[in-house]
Amino acid sequence: QTEIKIKEEGFWRFSKLAIPVHKDPGKDFFGVSLPLLESISKALEFPVASMLPMEAFTVVRKSFDARKLLKEPQFVYTVDMDVKKLLNLEPRAWDFISRLEPKLGSIEYMPSRKVLADLISILHNLVDNQHGTKQEEARDGIHNKSFNRSLFSKRPKVAVVGSGPSGLFASLVLSELGADVTLIERGQAVEQRGHDIGALVVRRALQPESNFCFGEGGAGTWSDGKLVTRIGRNSDSVLTVMKTLVHFGAPPEILLDGKPHLGTDRLIGILRNFRQHLVQLGVDIKFGTRLNDLIVENKQIIGIKVSNARDESRSNSQSLSYDAVVLAVGHSARDVYQMLLQHNVDMVPKDFAVGLRIEHPQELINKIQYSSLAAEVQLGRGKVPVADYKVVKYVNEGDEIVNSCLEDRSRSCYSFCMCPGGQVVLTSTNSSELCINGMSFSRRSSRWANAAIVVTVSTNDFAPFSGHGPLCGVEFQRHYERKAAMVGGGNFVVPAQTVTDFLDNKLSVTSLPQSSYRLGVRPSNLHELLPTHITKALQHSIAVFDKELPGYICKDALLHGVETRTSSPIRIVRNTDSYESTSVIGLYPVGEGAGHAGGIISAAVDGIYCGFALAKNLNLFEGDI
Ligand code: FAD
Repeated sequence: QTEIKIKEEGFWRFSKLAIPVHKDPGKDFFGVSLPLLESISKALEFPVASMLPMEAFTVVRKSFDARKLLKEPQFVYTVDMDVKKLLNLEPRAWDFISRLEPKLGSIEYMPSRKVLADLISILHNLVDNQHGTKQEEARDGIHNKSFNRSLFSKRPKVAVVGSGPSGLFASLVLSELGADVTLIERGQAVEQRGHDIGALVVRRALQPESNFCFGEGGAGTWSDGKLVTRIGRNSDSVLTVMKTLVHFGAPPEILLDGKPHLGTDRLIGILRNFRQHLVQLGVDIKFGTRLNDLIVENKQIIGIKVSNARDESRSNSQSLSYDAVVLAVGHSARDVYQMLLQHNVDMVPKDFAVGLRIEHPQELINKIQYSSLAAEVQLGRGKVPVADYKVVKYVNEGDEIVNSCLEDRSRSCYSFCMCPGGQVVLTSTNSSELCINGMSFSRRSSRWANAAIVVTVSTNDFAPFSGHGPLCGVEFQRHYERKAAMVGGGNFVVPAQTVTDFLDNKLSVTSLPQSSYRLGVRPSNLHELLPTHITKALQHSIAVFDKELPGYICKDALLHGVETRTSSPIRIVRNTDSYESTSVIGLYPVGEGAGHAGGIISAAVDGIYCGFALAKNLNLFEGDI
């Protein structure tokens, strides 16, 4: 049922405008089509759709809805209407507008954060005015509004460690606000990182410092590039990140798409532009440089020790002085966690989830989700998006099978990081551990659909590793990653089992179905890889998922082990407002590795807020955050 609300003076917002697939121009069209005008005219009770001027309408969001309860899958639009423009171009609409208006409610907005609006303006101005003076003027104009220029003569020195989304966005904000920023990244720039990942996939040569987790753009670069987030799709901060990505080359449709995604191929170009912009701002970017230690005096950061990332001995560390350090190292930098422990930095174990990665032929998922419409997918070039899915099973008291094998009753089993048209990839950072994840290219045109199926774990599960203090969750991960490497037999071969055999708890004896994982799979019994209560919860939940997605359990579905790095196993404790560590002055833990974000967008948003908070602490910025 279409909803109409007054968005602001002179603008109405239509939501839930549904167009059946057969009438819609398709997933790649974000303009105003005649079928969309028909749907709007119906909502306005205006008799002739073709008389409504297209210019009066703007598409704000377009999503695809293929729920089974619908007669036919449909595209669902949110559209804004400029009332003045409509009445100028079609005065006969007046009667219909005036009849409806008194019945309409208004959209309630969260108050906008001024700092973020300013950041967007800075970026707009810089990108629109490519030439020196204009660029400077544009930035000066903004700075004069909210930023403390008197302090610019002595610029505070900030080290941002890690060039994932959180580190990049923190660097952007801090350098825009006048800090002297050094961005330190143990991995390589995307060009060299691409070669290193190629060598891993083709020759099994894992570079411990440049791989799927480490390098420019962080863990999100060789990923599916899904930009969905649970922190509020329409919030200013999320929009700021999205708009910034568009400035750096992402397709503008990500602002409209209900489930935006980029894909690795696009992310690489965006990151190059991002880098160029930071360099223009004066950011000193040091790739292949690893943070080895913090230099702390009287509980205050005074600098860091770094070395060439390839120097395993760490004996040639160089000391560098900084006023503050933003720690944006992601959740695979276990050496950094260990180092923080030695400095008594406040950290606590955090819940996360572990499990397996399931892979199906994409065609099968298309059929399950779309039935006869599956033919329209055409390897990502068709009218409808490549099908995805999201499943969740709460393990609750009424659930006999699971209750019998779980000590606590608050777990859930769910699909995570689903990659339609993607491939399973190795996310280990050293050869004695084995863990996997999924990635895709922008078209999502591979023959496979993969997703993690994971079960939540918490401190109860980490009890056998309690000797490691706050790092007990890290040890839990490591234990099962080592087990997976052993069961796989080495060389990054992944233990795998057909879903049907996993449900029967028996080793697959016939040959396994093909996998997208390039380094090979080995028939195994995955029940041996993870604690029994987890494999039982997986077994039970997969059976339930098959009821929701009939055909999910099939001979071609293959499980791969193990998926362990779904989010950070620790939280580095920080002050809520200042973003500063509660134990070390001048240390700013940020992003996923610090346990304050999960996913590309939320990590970027955390980086933005941390950037503003630190700038405020350094007297570079006076506004509210
Ligand atoms: P990271 O991106 O992990 O970046 C941390 C950076 O710090 C790394 O580049 C690392 O090299 C560097 N670093 C670490 N230690 C040091 C040190 N000592 N010295 C110097 N540098 C250091 N999320 C989504 O939202 N959508 C997806 O589709 C998606 N797909 C994914 C696919 C894969 C294969 C993986 C691995 C992750 C995926 N994620 C996805 C998760 C997402 O990538 C992360 O949530 C996000 O990148 C976290 O950002 P971050 O900045 O906190 O840390």
